[in-house]
Amino acid sequence: MDLEAIAELAQRERLCLGCTGRLAARRGHGLTNHERGQALLATRAMLAEAADETGTAPFFHGATPAPAPDECGLCAGLCGEVESLAQLVLDAVVDIELATFQVGTLVDAEILSREKELQAGLGNHGEPLKSQLNREIGSRVADASGLEPQRDSPDAVIVVDTRYDTVDLQIRSLFIEGRYTKADRTIPQTRWPCRHCRGRGCERCDGSGQMYPDSVQSLVAAPLLEASGAGEDKFHGMGREDIDAAMLGAGRPFVLELRQPRVRSLDLPALEKAINVAADGRITANGLAWVARPRVAELKETVCDKTYRVDIRCDPPVEIERLKKGAQRLAGEVVEQRTPTRVSHRRADLVRPRRVESMKLLSADGATAELEIRAQHGTYIRELVSGDGGRTSPSLAELVEAECRVEVLDVLHLHLEEPET
Ligand SMILES: [Zn+2]
Ligand SMILES: [Zn+2]
Repeated sequence: MDLEAIAELAQRERLCLGCTGRLAARRGHGLTNHERGQALLATRAMLAEAADETGTAPFFHGATPAPAPDECGLCAGLCGEVESLAQLVLDAVVDIELATFQVGTLVDAEILSREKELQAGLGNHGEPLKSQLNREIGSRVADASGLEPQRDSPDAVIVVDTRYDTVDLQIRSLFIEGRYTKADRTIPQTRWPCRHCRGRGCERCDGSGQMYPDSVQSLVAAPLLEASGAGEDKFHGMGREDIDAAMLGAGRPFVLELRQPRVRSLDLPALEKAINVAADGRITANGLAWVARPRVAELKETVCDKTYRVDIRCDPPVEIERLKKGAQRLAGEVVEQRTPTRVSHRRADLVRPRRVESMKLLSADGATAELEIRAQHGTYIRELVSGDGGRTSPSLAELVEAECRVEVLDVLHLHLEEPET
């Protein structure tokens, strides 16, 4: 690194001390770029004085100052704005509960390309302006706020746009895992934007923007959104049941993501109670606990057997013995299920083999019956009963030679604790 060449270039391009020092980055351990620039020019001046007692090196002689940042030929004042840019960050995070943060900056493209050019002429030893700004703003913010700078998954990434003096604050989401049960057979798992207005609110949806006033998601999220001050939530369920199916037993695992939360220390047991009191038995949330983001993908990939309870209707009525035999025939059977007509508009038309683990007849009076079915993940239970016009085979309807259809379907249990069979 040629310090003499740096000093000459700084003079020629009229660089401020910060920009000068940055060209000599990593020389002079522990100095700021400003101090480094000052030291470099002062040393250069003293060496020139020693060599030339006639005083014909005017820039370096005596106290001839380097230009102030506002007049700098490179940074257009940025080196002198660290204090005010740090204040923008401090204003943005006031009243937000954070422990760790990271600062990023956006800088005018012309400045960045000019800087590259200058550094290239000197062998590319310099530090980029952005990294100086990130570091200096970050350390002022840390000193003033007590927050800790952190590179890996900080609570907030704060990007300062130095072109417009604006701040973009990205707060790390909170992830809460739990299980839900649903006794109310009229609510969907997740919010469902109104088909007519796509969520804007119209007469059809009473201004709610939703097809259904409530969902498992909205009932679970409401107290958590309020307590965290989050901007929005996302519900990640381990699969889902139909709107008109209940989810019973130990419930279904989910992770609720709270985006842009302003409060991070939540009393989960108290909030769980608040959810369950407000939901008044329609749904419950249980075992709320903190998890990390990767848990969402893990949950989405988890599959397991499920046990269902169904009420069916047979037309014409079927003798109990015949129903029992039909159920016995299906237990342990692998059925072929072509994508049902009711979902074929959004799913590929495929034939999937699915194993029926067990099928028990709990009660029957001929025209109606109650069954308990354990089946492999992804089994279409309604079609297993009805046959879906031959698209699922064998089916209960096919075996008892009558029309059978599911009237009520509940999920009783997700067999998470046992490996899939
Ligand atoms: Zn400068
Ligand atoms: Zn609407």
